[in-house]
Amino acid sequence: MTTTPQPKSSTPALEVRGLWAGYNHTPALKDVSFQVPEGEIVGIIGPNGAGKSTLFKAILDLMKPWRGETLIFGQSNRSQRAKIGYMPQIELVDWNFPVSVKEVVLMGRYGHIGLFRRPSKEDRAAAHEALEQVGMAHLGDRLIGELSGGQRRRVLLARALTNRPKLLLLDEPMAGLDATVQHQIISILRALRDSGTTVVLSTHDLSCVSAACDLTLCLNCQVVAYGPPRDVLVEKVLGETFGTHLLMVHLDGQAYAYQHHRHSNGPPNEDK
Ligand code: ADP
Repeated sequence: MTTTPQPKSSTPALEVRGLWAGYNHTPALKDVSFQVPEGEIVGIIGPNGAGKSTLFKAILDLMKPWRGETLIFGQSNRSQRAKIGYMPQIELVDWNFPVSVKEVVLMGRYGHIGLFRRPSKEDRAAAHEALEQVGMAHLGDRLIGELSGGQRRRVLLARALTNRPKLLLLDEPMAGLDATVQHQIISILRALRDSGTTVVLSTHDLSCVSAACDLTLCLNCQVVAYGPPRDVLVEKVLGETFGTHLLMVHLDGQAYAYQHHRHSNGPPNEDK
């Protein structure tokens, strides 16, 4: 895995300015602004319907905002699309499709390959390098249907890495993974960050944010708060973000959230 630190740019890797976007005249994002410095891991948290996917679509230039703009290293996102790697939610992938791990990762190179050309030596080398980065190079010939949940996530991550992106967008990368696999993914993200890649991920899992992220953006159509997890993962902010009372427990440097049940005498349920 490459870990050589690269000189950092003073221009933000990502800058979202006054973004308004929505569907059928109903706003999903209202005046959203934030900056992500190069080489940081940012976690976006918010309830279902908070606008996380809409924000990703706007950053990826897959939808036109009503107002505002997105800059990647100071230039319009449209012109800088090739610098962004994107990992979709795992549910959007058909894992029964009979293709190998290598072939799935090569799909990340389609922008280079074109749909009807055979992959070049360089394409294959880039796919191999991406598989190495996620510790999956030895499983390149496996069919994707034979992989475990954690391995599938790594393959998707490798696909997002094949173009050596400067900015990586990950939609719910930890969902459904057990704690051990989550930690493996976090280690991979840290190594990527340390080699200069900027990572923006969305998650429902507050303990993942406190374990993995340098900065946390709390989103509920608007930016409720943005800052280091220890400043942002507090009951007041989480109450405003999720619209419910969450009790935060800080243990061994990690934050855990519990939903507050006014009439319950039993133990609180962990909010995942
Ligand atoms: P999140 O990813 O945080 O769950 P979304 O960005 O998917 O939030 O959704 C934000 C809001 O936009 C929600 O109210 C959702 O119902 C609405 N929305 C999302 N996608 C569409 C769509 N394709 N058509 C109409 N409304 C949509």
